[in-house]
Amino acid sequence: MATNRTFTMIKPDAVANGHVGAILDDMIKGGFKIVAMKYTKLSPEMAGKFYAVHKERGFFGELVEFMSSGPIVAAILEKDNAVEDFRKLIGATDPAKAEPGTIRNKYAKSIDANAVHGSDSDENAAIEGSFYFTAFEQF
Ligand code: UDP
Ligand code: MG
Repeated sequence: MATNRTFTMIKPDAVANGHVGAILDDMIKGGFKIVAMKYTKLSPEMAGKFYAVHKERGFFGELVEFMSSGPIVAAILEKDNAVEDFRKLIGATDPAKAEPGTIRNKYAKSIDANAVHGSDSDENAAIEGSFYFTAFEQF
């Protein structure tokens, strides 16, 4: 299993607010190489599958509704220590608690609409990447 890759989504709030370019620039300047990328929209069913791990949590219904509310950018990113370093680059789940300069601190307004997703483990990075991309779409 690759330890140098992570998976991200630029969420519907950040796309709608015009932050795609700035967020991709932060990722690239943070040392991440884009190895796969797609502009797409999740159906509620696909969003529910993607976030199935959270289905018992109180916010699951709202999360699925929000994540299927508009287009997103999905990408696989490569860097040494990708998962951990990317979580640092995006900051805490709640943007109010995210360090200054992090992507969520700069571009997110609330814990539910928090601008970006980042995988939490190498295993989930591989699962989430293959949810969106075939081997032929990864460079
Ligand atoms: N979320 C939410 N309310 C919460 C916690 C999480 O709406 O109280 C949403 C938020 O969009 C978050 C996603 O559910 O990014 C997944 O939650 P997780 O705990 O995995 O946070 P993350 O890994 O995204 O930082
Ligand atoms: Mg998570």
